[in-house]
Amino acid sequence: MVVETPGSQSSLHRANLERVVRAVRLAGSLTQAEIARGTGLSAATVSNIVRELRDNGTVQVTPTSSGGRRARSVSLSGDAGIVVGVDFGHSHLRVAVGNLAHQVLAEQTEPIDVDASAAQGFDRAEQLVGQLIATTGIGADKVIGVGLGVPGPIDVASGVLGSTAILPGWGGINPREELAGRLGMPVHVDNDANLGALGELVWGAGRGVKDLAYIKVASGVGAGLVINGQIYRGPGGTAGEIGHITLDESGPVCRCGNRGCLETFTAAGYVLDLLRSSHGPDLTVPRMVRLARDGDPGCRRVIADVGRHVGMGVANLCNVLNPSRVVLGGDLAEAGEVVLAPIRESVARYAIPSAARQLAVVPGALGARAEVLGALALVLSEMGDSTLLPDSAPATLAFT
Ligand SMILES: [Zn+2]
Repeated sequence: MVVETPGSQSSLHRANLERVVRAVRLAGSLTQAEIARGTGLSAATVSNIVRELRDNGTVQVTPTSSGGRRARSVSLSGDAGIVVGVDFGHSHLRVAVGNLAHQVLAEQTEPIDVDASAAQGFDRAEQLVGQLIATTGIGADKVIGVGLGVPGPIDVASGVLGSTAILPGWGGINPREELAGRLGMPVHVDNDANLGALGELVWGAGRGVKDLAYIKVASGVGAGLVINGQIYRGPGGTAGEIGHITLDESGPVCRCGNRGCLETFTAAGYVLDLLRSSHGPDLTVPRMVRLARDGDPGCRRVIADVGRHVGMGVANLCNVLNPSRVVLGGDLAEAGEVVLAPIRESVARYAIPSAARQLAVVPGALGARAEVLGALALVLSEMGDSTLLPDSAPATLAFT
Protein backbone atom coordinates (compact mmCIF):
# COMPACT_ATOMS: atom_id res chain seq x y z
CA MET A 1 0.00 0.00 0.00
CA VAL A 2 1.36 3.43 -0.95
CA VAL A 3 0.23 6.58 0.78
CA GLU A 4 1.08 10.02 -0.58
CA THR A 5 2.13 12.55 2.00
CA PRO A 6 1.76 16.05 0.58
CA GLY A 7 3.29 17.73 3.59
CA SER A 8 6.50 15.73 3.55
CA GLN A 9 10.06 16.99 3.13
CA SER A 10 10.13 15.57 -0.36
CA SER A 11 7.06 17.38 -1.66
CA LEU A 12 8.30 20.61 -0.06
CA HIS A 13 11.57 20.13 -1.91
CA ARG A 14 9.69 19.57 -5.18
CA ALA A 15 7.66 22.77 -4.56
CA ASN A 16 10.89 24.71 -4.02
CA LEU A 17 12.37 23.37 -7.26
CA GLU A 18 9.25 24.55 -9.07
CA ARG A 19 9.38 27.99 -7.44
CA VAL A 20 12.94 28.56 -8.60
CA VAL A 21 12.18 27.32 -12.13
CA ARG A 22 9.09 29.58 -12.30
CA ALA A 23 11.07 32.65 -11.19
CA VAL A 24 13.84 32.08 -13.73
CA ARG A 25 11.47 31.09 -16.53
CA LEU A 26 9.76 34.49 -16.60
CA ALA A 27 12.74 36.68 -15.72
CA GLY A 28 15.15 35.17 -18.24
CA SER A 29 18.11 35.29 -15.90
CA LEU A 30 18.42 36.11 -12.22
CA THR A 31 21.26 36.11 -9.72
CA GLN A 32 20.92 33.70 -6.83
CA ALA A 33 20.31 36.67 -4.52
CA GLU A 34 17.46 37.86 -6.76
CA ILE A 35 15.97 34.36 -6.75
CA ALA A 36 16.09 34.34 -2.96
CA ARG A 37 14.37 37.75 -2.78
CA GLY A 38 11.74 36.79 -5.37
CA THR A 39 10.84 33.39 -3.91
CA GLY A 40 11.31 34.06 -0.21
CA LEU A 41 13.66 31.06 0.03
CA SER A 42 16.88 31.33 2.03
CA ALA A 43 20.19 31.88 0.23
CA ALA A 44 21.40 28.45 1.29
CA THR A 45 18.26 26.73 -0.02
CA VAL A 46 18.50 28.61 -3.33
CA SER A 47 22.14 27.63 -3.65
CA ASN A 48 21.35 23.93 -3.10
CA ILE A 49 18.39 23.97 -5.46
CA VAL A 50 20.31 25.76 -8.21
CA ARG A 51 23.07 23.19 -7.93
CA GLU A 52 20.57 20.36 -8.27
CA LEU A 53 18.82 22.01 -11.23
CA ARG A 54 22.16 22.60 -12.93
CA ASP A 55 23.22 19.00 -12.42
CA ASN A 56 20.04 17.69 -14.05
CA GLY A 57 20.35 20.10 -16.98
CA THR A 58 17.34 22.31 -16.21
CA VAL A 59 19.29 25.54 -15.61
CA GLN A 60 22.64 26.98 -16.67
CA VAL A 61 24.77 29.11 -14.37
CA THR A 62 27.15 31.77 -15.69
CA PRO A 63 29.43 34.17 -13.79
CA THR A 64 28.26 37.79 -13.76
CA SER A 65 28.56 40.81 -11.50
CA SER A 66 25.92 42.53 -9.42
CA GLY A 67 26.63 45.91 -7.82
CA GLY A 68 30.35 45.45 -8.51
CA ARG A 69 30.41 42.06 -6.76
CA ARG A 70 30.83 38.69 -8.31
CA ALA A 71 27.57 36.83 -8.70
CA ARG A 72 26.14 33.84 -10.50
CA SER A 73 23.47 34.36 -13.13
CA VAL A 74 20.92 31.56 -13.42
CA SER A 75 18.79 30.97 -16.51
CA LEU A 76 16.95 28.01 -17.98
CA SER A 77 19.21 25.84 -20.13
CA GLY A 78 19.34 27.11 -23.68
CA ASP A 79 19.08 23.57 -25.01
CA ALA A 80 16.27 22.45 -22.69
CA GLY A 81 13.67 23.32 -25.32
CA ILE A 82 12.42 26.00 -27.70
CA VAL A 83 9.30 28.14 -27.88
CA VAL A 84 7.61 29.62 -30.94
CA GLY A 85 5.71 32.90 -31.28
CA VAL A 86 3.26 33.67 -34.10
CA ASP A 87 1.81 37.19 -34.30
CA PHE A 88 -0.98 38.02 -36.73
CA GLY A 89 -1.54 41.74 -37.24
CA HIS A 90 -4.14 43.06 -39.68
CA SER A 91 -1.49 43.42 -42.35
CA HIS A 92 1.52 41.41 -41.20
CA LEU A 93 2.62 38.03 -39.96
CA ARG A 94 5.61 37.79 -37.65
CA VAL A 95 7.13 34.54 -36.36
CA ALA A 96 9.93 34.07 -33.84
CA VAL A 97 11.68 31.07 -32.32
CA GLY A 98 13.40 31.43 -28.96
CA ASN A 99 15.08 29.22 -26.40
CA LEU A 100 14.20 28.98 -22.73
CA ALA A 101 17.10 31.25 -21.80
CA HIS A 102 15.16 34.09 -23.50
CA GLN A 103 17.38 34.24 -26.58
CA VAL A 104 15.64 34.82 -29.90
CA LEU A 105 17.17 32.34 -32.33
CA ALA A 106 15.24 33.20 -35.50
CA GLU A 107 12.65 35.78 -36.46
CA GLN A 108 10.91 36.84 -39.64
CA THR A 109 8.14 39.21 -40.57
CA GLU A 110 6.25 39.71 -43.80
CA PRO A 111 3.31 41.74 -45.04
CA ILE A 112 0.12 39.74 -45.52
CA ASP A 113 -3.56 40.68 -45.68
CA VAL A 114 -4.59 38.67 -42.63
CA ASP A 115 -8.16 40.03 -42.63
CA ALA A 116 -8.89 38.76 -46.12
CA SER A 117 -8.41 35.04 -45.59
CA ALA A 118 -7.67 33.14 -42.41
CA ALA A 119 -6.74 30.00 -44.40
CA GLN A 120 -4.01 31.83 -46.34
CA GLY A 121 -2.69 33.38 -43.14
CA PHE A 122 -2.46 30.00 -41.41
CA ASP A 123 -0.89 28.36 -44.50
CA ARG A 124 1.88 30.94 -44.42
CA ALA A 125 2.28 30.76 -40.63
CA GLU A 126 2.65 26.97 -40.83
CA GLN A 127 5.37 27.27 -43.51
CA LEU A 128 7.24 30.01 -41.70
CA VAL A 129 7.25 28.17 -38.36
CA GLY A 130 8.72 25.09 -40.08
CA GLN A 131 11.37 27.14 -41.90
CA LEU A 132 12.47 29.09 -38.84
CA ILE A 133 12.70 26.00 -36.61
CA ALA A 134 14.84 24.37 -39.33
CA THR A 135 17.26 27.34 -39.39
CA THR A 136 17.95 26.90 -35.66
CA GLY A 137 19.18 23.34 -36.22
CA ILE A 138 17.07 22.22 -33.26
CA GLY A 139 14.55 19.43 -33.75
CA ALA A 140 10.83 20.24 -33.83
CA ASP A 141 10.43 17.67 -31.03
CA LYS A 142 12.12 20.22 -28.76
CA VAL A 143 9.24 22.71 -29.16
CA ILE A 144 7.54 23.16 -25.81
CA GLY A 145 4.71 25.28 -27.13
CA VAL A 146 3.55 27.95 -29.55
CA GLY A 147 2.17 31.36 -28.54
CA LEU A 148 -0.34 32.81 -31.00
CA GLY A 149 -1.41 36.46 -31.14
CA VAL A 150 -4.52 37.66 -32.94
CA PRO A 151 -5.63 41.29 -33.39
CA GLY A 152 -8.97 41.01 -31.62
CA PRO A 153 -10.61 39.93 -28.37
CA ILE A 154 -10.32 36.23 -27.77
CA ASP A 155 -12.13 33.98 -25.32
CA VAL A 156 -9.11 32.44 -23.64
CA ALA A 157 -10.97 29.37 -22.38
CA SER A 158 -12.50 28.38 -25.74
CA GLY A 159 -9.92 30.03 -28.00
CA VAL A 160 -12.74 31.59 -30.07
CA LEU A 161 -12.64 35.17 -31.37
CA GLY A 162 -15.02 37.40 -29.40
CA SER A 163 -15.98 39.46 -32.46
CA THR A 164 -15.55 38.74 -36.14
CA ALA A 165 -16.39 42.39 -36.90
CA ILE A 166 -12.66 43.00 -36.41
CA LEU A 167 -11.44 40.08 -38.54
CA PRO A 168 -14.13 39.53 -41.17
CA GLY A 169 -12.27 36.69 -42.93
CA TRP A 170 -11.97 34.68 -39.71
CA GLY A 171 -15.66 33.82 -39.08
CA GLY A 172 -16.18 30.33 -37.62
CA ILE A 173 -12.46 29.74 -37.05
CA ASN A 174 -10.92 28.74 -33.75
CA PRO A 175 -7.37 30.10 -34.21
CA ARG A 176 -5.83 27.96 -31.47
CA GLU A 177 -7.26 24.67 -32.78
CA GLU A 178 -6.45 25.64 -36.36
CA LEU A 179 -2.76 26.23 -35.65
CA ALA A 180 -2.42 23.34 -33.18
CA GLY A 181 -3.93 20.97 -35.76
CA ARG A 182 -1.54 22.13 -38.46
CA LEU A 183 1.62 22.09 -36.35
CA GLY A 184 0.86 19.19 -34.02
CA MET A 185 2.15 21.33 -31.12
CA PRO A 186 0.40 22.80 -28.07
CA VAL A 187 -0.78 26.36 -28.85
CA HIS A 188 -1.64 29.15 -26.40
CA VAL A 189 -3.59 32.11 -27.80
CA ASP A 190 -4.14 35.70 -26.69
CA ASN A 191 -4.98 39.10 -28.15
CA ASP A 192 -2.34 41.53 -29.39
CA ALA A 193 -2.63 44.00 -26.51
CA ASN A 194 -2.12 41.28 -23.87
CA LEU A 195 0.86 39.89 -25.76
CA GLY A 196 2.33 43.38 -26.14
CA ALA A 197 2.00 43.77 -22.36
CA LEU A 198 3.70 40.41 -21.74
CA GLY A 199 6.44 41.20 -24.26
CA GLU A 200 7.26 44.53 -22.64
CA LEU A 201 6.97 43.00 -19.15
CA VAL A 202 9.41 40.17 -19.83
CA TRP A 203 11.74 41.69 -22.46
CA GLY A 204 11.21 45.44 -22.64
CA ALA A 205 10.02 48.64 -20.94
CA GLY A 206 8.13 46.83 -18.18
CA ARG A 207 10.95 44.69 -16.81
CA GLY A 208 10.84 44.57 -13.04
CA VAL A 209 7.41 46.26 -12.86
CA LYS A 210 4.55 44.37 -11.23
CA ASP A 211 1.61 46.58 -12.24
CA LEU A 212 1.47 48.03 -15.71
CA ALA A 213 -0.79 48.72 -18.63
CA TYR A 214 0.37 48.36 -22.23
CA ILE A 215 -1.67 50.68 -24.43
CA LYS A 216 -1.73 49.81 -28.09
CA VAL A 217 -2.88 52.58 -30.40
CA ALA A 218 -3.21 51.16 -33.90
CA SER A 219 -6.41 50.64 -35.90
CA GLY A 220 -8.16 50.45 -32.52
CA VAL A 221 -7.11 51.19 -28.95
CA GLY A 222 -6.65 48.38 -26.47
CA ALA A 223 -4.87 47.81 -23.21
CA GLY A 224 -3.07 44.76 -21.89
CA LEU A 225 -3.22 44.84 -18.09
CA VAL A 226 -0.61 43.32 -15.80
CA ILE A 227 -1.70 43.18 -12.18
CA ASN A 228 0.74 41.88 -9.59
CA GLY A 229 2.94 40.38 -12.30
CA GLN A 230 0.09 38.53 -14.05
CA ILE A 231 -1.92 39.37 -17.16
CA TYR A 232 -5.49 40.19 -16.11
CA ARG A 233 -7.95 38.97 -18.74
CA GLY A 234 -11.28 38.87 -16.91
CA PRO A 235 -13.63 35.87 -17.15
CA GLY A 236 -14.49 36.54 -20.80
CA GLY A 237 -11.07 37.70 -21.93
CA THR A 238 -12.25 41.24 -22.68
CA ALA A 239 -10.50 43.16 -19.88
CA GLY A 240 -8.61 46.22 -21.10
CA GLU A 241 -11.00 47.32 -23.88
CA ILE A 242 -10.36 50.96 -23.09
CA GLY A 243 -11.10 51.90 -26.69
CA HIS A 244 -14.77 51.80 -25.75
CA ILE A 245 -14.69 54.21 -22.83
CA THR A 246 -17.29 56.88 -23.61
CA LEU A 247 -15.78 60.32 -24.21
CA ASP A 248 -18.79 62.00 -25.89
CA GLU A 249 -22.20 60.36 -25.73
CA SER A 250 -23.41 62.32 -28.74
CA GLY A 251 -20.20 61.67 -30.68
CA PRO A 252 -19.68 59.51 -33.80
CA VAL A 253 -21.13 55.98 -33.84
CA CYS A 254 -18.49 53.37 -32.95
CA ARG A 255 -18.16 49.90 -34.47
CA CYS A 256 -19.37 48.55 -31.09
CA GLY A 257 -22.70 50.37 -31.61
CA ASN A 258 -22.13 52.96 -28.91
CA ARG A 259 -21.43 56.65 -29.56
CA GLY A 260 -18.34 58.73 -28.91
CA CYS A 261 -16.08 55.89 -27.73
CA LEU A 262 -12.41 56.79 -27.26
CA GLU A 263 -11.65 54.70 -30.34
CA THR A 264 -13.83 56.87 -32.59
CA PHE A 265 -11.42 59.78 -31.86
CA THR A 266 -8.22 57.79 -32.34
CA ALA A 267 -8.92 55.23 -35.10
CA ALA A 268 -6.70 55.56 -38.16
CA GLY A 269 -9.69 56.30 -40.43
CA TYR A 270 -10.89 59.22 -38.30
CA VAL A 271 -7.42 60.66 -37.80
CA LEU A 272 -6.36 60.45 -41.46
CA ASP A 273 -9.68 62.00 -42.59
CA LEU A 274 -8.78 65.12 -40.59
CA LEU A 275 -5.65 65.52 -42.70
CA ARG A 276 -7.00 64.49 -46.11
CA SER A 277 -7.82 67.98 -47.37
CA SER A 278 -4.49 69.42 -46.26
CA HIS A 279 -2.17 66.42 -46.85
CA GLY A 280 -3.77 64.52 -49.72
CA PRO A 281 -5.81 61.30 -49.96
CA ASP A 282 -2.86 58.87 -49.80
CA LEU A 283 -1.63 59.75 -46.32
CA THR A 284 -0.92 56.72 -44.11
CA VAL A 285 -0.34 56.51 -40.35
CA PRO A 286 3.41 55.76 -40.66
CA ARG A 287 3.83 58.73 -43.04
CA MET A 288 1.80 60.99 -40.74
CA VAL A 289 4.07 59.97 -37.84
CA ARG A 290 7.21 60.65 -39.93
CA LEU A 291 5.91 64.07 -40.96
CA ALA A 292 5.09 64.92 -37.33
CA ARG A 293 8.61 63.97 -36.25
CA ASP A 294 9.94 66.24 -39.00
CA GLY A 295 7.90 69.14 -37.59
CA ASP A 296 4.76 69.18 -39.77
CA PRO A 297 2.34 71.30 -37.67
CA GLY A 298 -0.91 69.69 -38.91
CA CYS A 299 0.29 66.15 -38.25
CA ARG A 300 1.70 67.17 -34.86
CA ARG A 301 -1.62 68.77 -33.90
CA VAL A 302 -3.70 65.74 -34.91
CA ILE A 303 -1.37 63.29 -33.11
CA ALA A 304 -1.37 65.50 -30.01
CA ASP A 305 -5.19 65.42 -30.03
CA VAL A 306 -5.09 61.63 -30.23
CA GLY A 307 -2.68 61.68 -27.28
CA ARG A 308 -5.04 63.86 -25.24
CA HIS A 309 -7.93 61.47 -25.92
CA VAL A 310 -5.87 58.36 -25.16
CA GLY A 311 -4.72 60.14 -21.99
CA MET A 312 -8.36 60.42 -20.84
CA GLY A 313 -8.63 56.64 -21.15
CA VAL A 314 -5.32 56.20 -19.33
CA ALA A 315 -6.54 58.53 -16.56
CA ASN A 316 -9.62 56.33 -16.05
CA LEU A 317 -7.44 53.25 -15.99
CA CYS A 318 -5.11 54.96 -13.56
CA ASN A 319 -7.96 55.77 -11.16
CA VAL A 320 -9.30 52.20 -11.26
CA LEU A 321 -6.09 50.13 -11.26
CA ASN A 322 -3.31 52.45 -10.02
CA PRO A 323 -0.58 50.99 -12.28
CA SER A 324 2.96 52.24 -11.80
CA ARG A 325 3.78 52.26 -15.50
CA VAL A 326 1.93 52.76 -18.77
CA VAL A 327 3.82 51.53 -21.83
CA LEU A 328 2.70 52.93 -25.16
CA GLY A 329 2.90 50.65 -28.19
CA GLY A 330 1.45 50.48 -31.68
CA ASP A 331 2.10 52.63 -34.75
CA LEU A 332 1.53 55.93 -32.98
CA ALA A 333 4.14 55.25 -30.29
CA GLU A 334 6.75 55.99 -32.98
CA ALA A 335 5.72 59.66 -32.66
CA GLY A 336 7.56 59.78 -29.31
CA GLU A 337 7.00 62.91 -27.24
CA VAL A 338 4.53 64.31 -29.80
CA VAL A 339 2.02 61.75 -28.47
CA LEU A 340 3.47 60.97 -25.01
CA ALA A 341 3.46 64.54 -23.66
CA PRO A 342 -0.30 65.08 -24.32
CA ILE A 343 -1.05 61.67 -22.72
CA ARG A 344 0.81 62.79 -19.58
CA GLU A 345 -1.03 66.14 -19.60
CA SER A 346 -4.40 64.38 -19.74
CA VAL A 347 -3.40 62.03 -16.94
CA ALA A 348 -2.34 65.01 -14.81
CA ARG A 349 -5.64 66.73 -15.55
CA TYR A 350 -8.14 63.86 -15.23
CA ALA A 351 -6.67 61.27 -12.86
CA ILE A 352 -6.74 61.67 -9.10
CA PRO A 353 -3.42 63.27 -8.13
CA SER A 354 -2.17 60.46 -5.89
CA ALA A 355 -2.61 57.87 -8.64
CA ALA A 356 -1.19 60.17 -11.35
CA ARG A 357 1.93 60.92 -9.27
CA GLN A 358 2.90 57.25 -9.16
CA LEU A 359 2.45 56.71 -12.88
CA ALA A 360 5.21 56.84 -15.48
CA VAL A 361 4.10 56.97 -19.13
CA VAL A 362 6.87 55.56 -21.31
CA PRO A 363 7.29 54.38 -24.91
CA GLY A 364 7.56 50.65 -25.56
CA ALA A 365 11.11 49.34 -25.98
CA LEU A 366 10.26 46.61 -28.47
CA GLY A 367 8.36 48.47 -31.19
CA ALA A 368 6.56 46.15 -33.61
CA ARG A 369 8.26 43.10 -32.04
CA ALA A 370 6.37 43.45 -28.73
CA GLU A 371 3.59 41.04 -29.68
CA VAL A 372 5.71 38.25 -31.11
CA LEU A 373 8.07 38.39 -28.13
CA GLY A 374 4.98 38.41 -25.93
CA ALA A 375 3.86 35.25 -27.72
CA LEU A 376 7.16 33.61 -26.70
CA ALA A 377 6.62 34.88 -23.15
CA LEU A 378 3.06 33.48 -23.17
CA VAL A 379 4.45 29.98 -23.67
CA LEU A 380 7.05 30.56 -20.94
CA SER A 381 4.30 31.71 -18.60
CA GLU A 382 1.79 28.95 -19.46
CA MET A 383 4.09 25.96 -19.81
CA GLY A 384 3.58 24.78 -16.25
CA ASP A 385 6.04 24.46 -13.41
CA SER A 386 6.83 20.77 -13.85
CA THR A 387 7.46 20.70 -17.60
CA LEU A 388 11.23 20.94 -17.26
CA LEU A 389 11.71 18.94 -14.10
CA PRO A 390 12.48 15.27 -14.28
CA ASP A 391 9.55 13.14 -13.17
CA SER A 392 10.07 12.45 -9.54
CA ALA A 393 8.22 9.79 -7.69
CA PRO A 394 5.73 11.45 -5.37
CA ALA A 395 6.75 11.42 -1.79
CA THR A 396 5.56 8.10 -0.58
CA LEU A 397 5.56 5.92 2.43
CA ALA A 398 5.32 2.28 1.62
CA PHE A 399 3.55 -0.11 3.96
CA THR A 400 3.99 -3.75 3.31
ZN1 LIG B 1 -17.08 51.55 -29.02
